[in-house]
Amino acid sequence: MILACPLCSNKGLLLYHDDKHTFYQCSVCKGIYRDSSELLNKHKEKDRYYLHQNHINDLGYINFADPILSEVKKHYNATHQGLDFGAGHTPVISEILKRDNFNIEIYDPLFFNNKTVLNKKYDFITSCEVIEHFYNPKKEFELLYKILKPNGKLICMTDIFNGSNFDSWYYKTDPTHVFLYQKETFQWIKDHLGFSGIIIEGRLIVLTR
Ligand SMILES: [Zn+2]
Repeated sequence: MILACPLCSNKGLLLYHDDKHTFYQCSVCKGIYRDSSELLNKHKEKDRYYLHQNHINDLGYINFADPILSEVKKHYNATHQGLDFGAGHTPVISEILKRDNFNIEIYDPLFFNNKTVLNKKYDFITSCEVIEHFYNPKKEFELLYKILKPNGKLICMTDIFNGSNFDSWYYKTDPTHVFLYQKETFQWIKDHLGFSGIIIEGRLIVLTR
């Protein structure tokens, strides 16, 4: 049986299978999704995230996240309200922005599960290496759209599959990477979930409400 795409509900075809990883590619939005039998439970997922060590003084991580930080600083200032969605156990992006006097809330379903921040509206939302962990991408992008103010920006980073050599693509081997994107997938999100604009530059994706 082939599972429906968790973003657009259309059918996918088997793209890749080995003894640890099974992925399908959606025929419509081109999203690539892991077989649901491989999805980790919350405890195992959390353990796995502790292996990601991001620190406020880690220059490598700060450089890595620079496209997001630069995008925020280009468009916003201390009068705007931001949210770091999927901040992880060490919320580096929000700490860096707070040092520069930005107002930014944090949310993470496993580490900072404060749902009240999801009832506010934001000028910008950052999400660094988070969207590939979405078990239900449709629900998550609908939520992100809902909590953006008009013209607000969702500023995300993920590695986008370039359409060839999935077999050797490192990104699939992390068991918490469950929904992977191609450029067409972001176009589908823009066209179907209400966003007015999209810009993709390397790993950076900016969706405007
Ligand atoms: Zn799809």
